[in-house]
Amino acid sequence: MAAPKTGNTASLYIHVPFCAGVCDYCDFYSIPVLPRDSRLHTYPEALLREAEVRIEEFRLSHIPTVYIGGGTPSLLGAGGMGRLLSGLWKLWKQEGIQGPGEITLEANPESADEAFLKTCRDQGITRLSLGVQTFHEPSRRAVHRVGAGALLQERLGLVRDIFGRGFSGDLITGLPGQDEEILRRDIDRLLSYEPGHVSLYALTVEEGTPLAAGGRERGLPEPDRADALWIAGRDRLEQQGYGQYEVSNFSLPGREARHNIRYWRMENWIGLGPGASGTLIDDARARGRRFTVNPDVDAYSAWARGKAGELLFWEDLDRLTLMKETLLMGFRYCRGPDAALFRQRFGMDMESGIPQTIARWRERGLLETGPLALTKAGLLFLDGFLAEAFRELEARGALA
Ligand code: SF4
Repeated sequence: MAAPKTGNTASLYIHVPFCAGVCDYCDFYSIPVLPRDSRLHTYPEALLREAEVRIEEFRLSHIPTVYIGGGTPSLLGAGGMGRLLSGLWKLWKQEGIQGPGEITLEANPESADEAFLKTCRDQGITRLSLGVQTFHEPSRRAVHRVGAGALLQERLGLVRDIFGRGFSGDLITGLPGQDEEILRRDIDRLLSYEPGHVSLYALTVEEGTPLAAGGRERGLPEPDRADALWIAGRDRLEQQGYGQYEVSNFSLPGREARHNIRYWRMENWIGLGPGASGTLIDDARARGRRFTVNPDVDAYSAWARGKAGELLFWEDLDRLTLMKETLLMGFRYCRGPDAALFRQRFGMDMESGIPQTIARWRERGLLETGPLALTKAGLLFLDGFLAEAFRELEARGALA
């Protein structure tokens, strides 16, 4: 094992861009595959090759957290996921890198069988994030979500046995055919498996998705109705002891997602796999750089086999952009942006950047009077708050 080295700290996001079908609301980079698709088999080694290159390129010495998302990472199966995880641990050891304290894996219940779940636990996955969305069959069918409610429940039982409370369940509100009673039943059923964490997402109709074409005809609720549904879900979760700590995330004490908190604080992360992105911040210069990995699985595989060519597309984040993104991500978090980090990064307090926005939102009771954070009611108007804050920052030229 190499001696521990000094270098950069960054989390890793690993993208697995394969799915068993296409959900109508999805706008992630993912391609539908059959179980025997050879790309599923070769993908772990391609990722390991890229991990090795990026660790060297970005001089990483500490990886605090890892998130394996998709797509549907569980489609790699126990064999593929085992090769990926054992390969990563071997690489970290070989490079003298301080390995992660949290590794999250996204899984869809239908492809997360017992062998897969046990392999993940044995290879160091500490959090499983399970895409439940809804147990209500008509709502699942209306958006072409694969999987069936009965299998979902069987798999949740397995996850509970293997990971204890170390898992999160995702639910979606605003689905066709959903009402408050159906949502309450979804939440109660999920909580009966005792997850440590729940994500409650309001369905958004993204441009270019099948849902955007003809959503109304499928019985999507009107916007006010959809908002009321999400609020009812939030209140139910909080009644049951799951505290909201971010716009869409709730947890039991101590079960917050550390990887995501690093995103909300705009700390370095590196993305691996087609469609993934990475952001590297230079705090001393209040600038950043972002890359996106070419969203093309075949070009990616060719690169991993040694074909020359550029895989990363880069963009610069200037001071104003970085400041806006720091606010955008930070105010999602119920504790608000990290004031000390903001000061260190930009050489000024947030109060000097957006004093009028802060005064107006405090007056309306939508911003806390202590640390700079939106109140529970204020979080519902996050977009409006950010629009005002950005206008003020632009008018001030971000006090460059
Ligand atoms: S499973 Fe997830 S990534 Fe795949 S199509 Fe559905 S929403 Fe998109």
